[in-house]
Amino acid sequence: MIKRTLQEIAGMIGLDDFESQHSNVHITGVTIDTRKITAGNLFVPFKGERADGHAFVEEAINQGAAAALWQSDVPNPPMHLPIILVEDTLLALQELARSYRKQLNVKTIGITGSNGKTTTKDMTASLLSLKYKVQKTEGNYNNHIGLPLTILSLEEDTQLAVLEMGMSGKGEIDFLSRLAQPEVVMITNIGEAHLQDLGSKEGIAQAKLEIINGLKNDGCIIYIGDEPLLQQYFEQYNGGAVLKTFGSNTSNDLYPTHISQSDDGSCFKVNISDREFQLPVLGTHNVLNALAAMTAASFYDISFEDMNEGLSKIKLTNMRMELLQGKKGERIINDAYNASPTSTNAAIELIANLPGYQNKILVLGDMLELGDEEKEYHIKVGESIDPDKISAVFTFGELGQYIAEGARRVFPEDRVYSFKEKQPLILQLQKLVNQETIVLVKASRGMKLEDVVAGLQE
Ligand code: ATP
Ligand code: MG
Repeated sequence: MIKRTLQEIAGMIGLDDFESQHSNVHITGVTIDTRKITAGNLFVPFKGERADGHAFVEEAINQGAAAALWQSDVPNPPMHLPIILVEDTLLALQELARSYRKQLNVKTIGITGSNGKTTTKDMTASLLSLKYKVQKTEGNYNNHIGLPLTILSLEEDTQLAVLEMGMSGKGEIDFLSRLAQPEVVMITNIGEAHLQDLGSKEGIAQAKLEIINGLKNDGCIIYIGDEPLLQQYFEQYNGGAVLKTFGSNTSNDLYPTHISQSDDGSCFKVNISDREFQLPVLGTHNVLNALAAMTAASFYDISFEDMNEGLSKIKLTNMRMELLQGKKGERIINDAYNASPTSTNAAIELIANLPGYQNKILVLGDMLELGDEEKEYHIKVGESIDPDKISAVFTFGELGQYIAEGARRVFPEDRVYSFKEKQPLILQLQKLVNQETIVLVKASRGMKLEDVVAGLQE
């Protein structure tokens, strides 16, 4: 993580005339959260709508922070403490990250996409670690605050940093990419997330493509070739970067030739190697995420022969196709982290084709942020569930009931249950599960469907 004196930090923010009796104080790392302070940190307070971080500056320093920033329009700066007065603490944090990035020799890999960023990030970092000193975005720190913090957490001897870039509107990925200056950029997919803000799928694709704005000239662009919008765009591309595609279609540079799923995870082969690869997570979409990661690893000269070792060790962050056991011996797939129509269809498809279970139950909740056509999206998901492969459909929430509406068009009435409360849902579900059962639990983050998982486990 960043290690500089207070004077140097001020200079990096652009305050060349900074003067303070504390100018020689040594800073180690940056935090915005008083609960996560470690000795020597620079504490950055934000003026939030509800709470003002400036109220915690003194406490932060008492807890071991070496210094803090202070936004100059906040009254009564504690001038006796080691603080730097800045016009805007968020801009100062971003500027500090920008200059630190320029001072580092690290090469960065930027990942965006509607789904699969965190997963692909974890997989890519796992593969690159076979040969390099690698750091990656912790958790989901992927926005205009998280990315600067991630950059400031990089060690000077880190060779490669795998960085997640998220967005909810236009211009955000442009900002993140220019900040990170990646050598490799990856676009995992273009889904329906954030249709609300961006209007159309084309709009979403354009926003993701901003990731090439900060790309180094001789870098590499890795994208899912199955997506026509990306294909069209890159047909016209005349920049200096190498283009590499992955996906299901055989027109891609890297594609799977065989995939099988069991409740240990996925096993797959690819077009350019004879090896079999093991992935300790479920889902065809995760095989595609792995292909993206393998393409990046191969750009950094890691051989396909060596990759299985990196893939088999992958551990994903919780609630992403997590395999669990319920109280009655049922298998649970907890995918309550997030949901869009694309990812929901993919997860349903997976359960539908998973061998070894007599009883397959879906618990699906609202998919949020879909814009004007949200009802239709939910109905469509319901309609496309195969009643020959799925035993029962449970839905939760206001929008979830439209999934049930769709499902009732293809299922007998008594195999579709719709709830607006979790407790009755859990009680009904408990009646149907046994050792032959697999339950998929999936919805947008805001629905907190992990409560249903907990209900089955306790
Ligand atoms: P966020 O925008 O919340 O940061 P993310 O892009 O980081 O999400 P992940 O956390 O990796 O995505 O995965 C979230 C969910 O998306 C997973 O639980 C899975 O259901 C689904 N998913 C993951 N990868 C793909 C993919 N390549 N295509 C479609 N759906 C996917
Ligand atoms: Mg993420």
